[in-house]
Amino acid sequence: NQSLHALDPEVAAAVDAELHRQQTTLEMIASENFAPVAVMEAQGSVLTNKYAEGYPGRRYYGGCEHVDVVEQIAIDRIKELFGAEAANVQPHSGAQANAAAMFALLQPGDTILGLDLAHGGHLTHGMRINFSGKLYNVVAYHVDEKTSRVDMDEVERLAKEHRPKLIVAGWSAYPRQLDFAAFRRIADEVGAYLMVDMAHFAGLVAAGLHPSPVPYADVVTTTTHKTLGGPRGGVILSKAALAKKINSAVFPGQQGGPLEHVIAAKAVSFKVAASEEFKERQQRTLDGAKILAERLTQADTAEAGVAVLSGGTDVHLVLVDLRNSELDGQQAEDRLHEVGITVNRNAVPFDPRPPMVTSGLRIGTPALATRGFGAEDFREVAEVIAEALKPGFDQAKAESLKARVTALAAKHPLYPEL
Ligand code: PLP
Repeated sequence: NQSLHALDPEVAAAVDAELHRQQTTLEMIASENFAPVAVMEAQGSVLTNKYAEGYPGRRYYGGCEHVDVVEQIAIDRIKELFGAEAANVQPHSGAQANAAAMFALLQPGDTILGLDLAHGGHLTHGMRINFSGKLYNVVAYHVDEKTSRVDMDEVERLAKEHRPKLIVAGWSAYPRQLDFAAFRRIADEVGAYLMVDMAHFAGLVAAGLHPSPVPYADVVTTTTHKTLGGPRGGVILSKAALAKKINSAVFPGQQGGPLEHVIAAKAVSFKVAASEEFKERQQRTLDGAKILAERLTQADTAEAGVAVLSGGTDVHLVLVDLRNSELDGQQAEDRLHEVGITVNRNAVPFDPRPPMVTSGLRIGTPALATRGFGAEDFREVAEVIAEALKPGFDQAKAESLKARVTALAAKHPLYPEL
């Protein structure tokens, strides 16, 4: 039983290099975060060896007495955290959680109504070549061109016209809060289920800094690795009446053996998410995004054609609108990469540029908040980003901005114990 370095130096070197990258650059991909060491310890534990098809107390394998404890703790904690009636913590990912939830509620060919991918929705909300687009009849709603906010009049009109069996609310790239009560009213009007995919904003909800969809939705899905700050994975919350259907849709419907080591890591992260410290971190996440949005709406960046979609943010991310900028999304992503800031380019609604290029950037603050960044640090990051997106970016400027990024990274050491 050799260590990773002794057994497989090639893989070990890549892991070490990734740790170094995370430590020395600024991670601003809105869907990423840094899991606590305790979470990674649970995920790297002997629980990876165990088969446990079934649910606590009702397994198809022997020797499940300890993983039963772990999975029950995870279920109890997340129910408590979000005030949910039922929880399934087995989905291997957010996409699997959505697949299972739809599998539980729908038949192939049923109609779903979800936010268009190009307007901020997720692949699993009905994209053409995703399972959701292939299995179900998809109708997409959009954001309003002027306000960049979800057009609830259109949602209502499409719901009445197409009578979907399921309405999906939730997003991957949207800087505002959704009106869950309005979605519920529309779903009730047409007899549809309402599913909210809170993958992006679950951490904010857990901290009480974002309205909760749980009282309104029949089913709420989430990932556990974004704002929630846990291991990569998915969870399905539901009303008690749907729990049986959801459980059988996950196993045996969609998955085999649950990843009990990941479930242990989820349990640890739910404990963290219930703490005061977590709440304070989510507040810094929100404050950081606001600081960034304010900086990128100043006169100098506006002059360079850089704008902020919807004029600001209520959440952990900012969508930078480059439709009037000479820089496209790819070039902007590359520039920030050059100075040590990692973001992803992202189509903005009504984007004239092709999807591989785009006219937008999605910039998030959760990972830096986890690293300990406060308002002053976020002001400095925002300044570096603004400078990088303005004209006159040359080698000298790139180097001076990179030095500022390196200083910020050094000020907030990441995983010093590793
Ligand atoms: N749902 C939303 C809203 C997402 O943004 C994502 C991931 O980006 C997912 C689901 C899918 O999660 P995963 O990548 O774990 O499958």
